Amino acid sequence: MVDFARRGVMLVIASPSGAGKSSISRQLFAQDPNIRLSVSITTRARRTDEIDGTHYHFIDVPKFEKMRDAGELLEWAEVHGNFYATPREKVEERLSAGKDILFDIDYQGTLQLYENCRNDMVTVFILPPSIGELRARLDRRAQDSVGTIEKRLRNARNEMEHYSEYDYVLVNEDLEQSVQMVRSILASARLQRPRQTKLDDFVQDLKSQIDALG
Ligand code: GDP
Ligand code: ADP
Ligand code: 5GP
Repeated sequence: MVDFARRGVMLVIASPSGAGKSSISRQLFAQDPNIRLSVSITTRARRTDEIDGTHYHFIDVPKFEKMRDAGELLEWAEVHGNFYATPREKVEERLSAGKDILFDIDYQGTLQLYENCRNDMVTVFILPPSIGELRARLDRRAQDSVGTIEKRLRNARNEMEHYSEYDYVLVNEDLEQSVQMVRSILASARLQRPRQTKLDDFVQDLKSQIDALG
């Protein structure tokens, strides 16, 4: 088997809350073992249904500040009085090993990642088919209070204004189809020439085989 060694893809998925990025990501993980969620660090309190190290790495503020000041964070943000960040080390480790990482971060985090890692990134923005449908999905998810749903709908306006900062834009109408689209984007990204780290050797070998024909 030929060794098509490659560098991993940083796949960023963003959307207004309720447009479907968690649903799409979940199915993607189930269908493709080579991509995993980037686990952020956060200083907010763990919710009862969250597992430390799976949903987030829960740390305290002094530890966060120490990591930030030591340059260990690829990006960070303060959201609702808590800090969130992406540690640098794990990302580099996975990319070098040819494994892909999915980032569920907002546009502010995406812009910071662009500064540090543009060449490794492929970004996708998910839109809802309509605001009526977005509201219906937020209602159906039944995780938030009426007030929170209203706030998220208002925030959606601001979030959606940033669609033009993304490489791909996808309207999540049919979930299966959206998952297929994201898989196609990922498949293309994996084949991009700069990610394929052994091409020189491979082509050299093909040439040698021709030369050997005499
Ligand atoms: P949620 O709104 O219920 O998902 O609450 P969370 O506390 O899980 O996340 C709050 C916000 O922080 C969301 O908008 C996330 O997209 C954002 N967020 C989570 N992790 C990170 C991160 O590592 N970096 C940045 N910049 N934002 C993050
Ligand atoms: P986000 O992660 O963007 O906040 P979710 O993935 O949690 O959004 O989706 C919000 C709700 O909408 C969930 O209840 C989910 O089951 C539903 N949903 C997601 N995509 C679709 C779709 N294509 N058609 C119908 N319902 C969907
Ligand atoms: P686990 O779930 O196995 O405890 O953690 C997953 C991985 O994340 C481990 O390899 C662990 O070392 C790493 N990890 C946990 N907390 C942090 C952190 O605060 N910063 C970084 N860079 N990695 C962490």
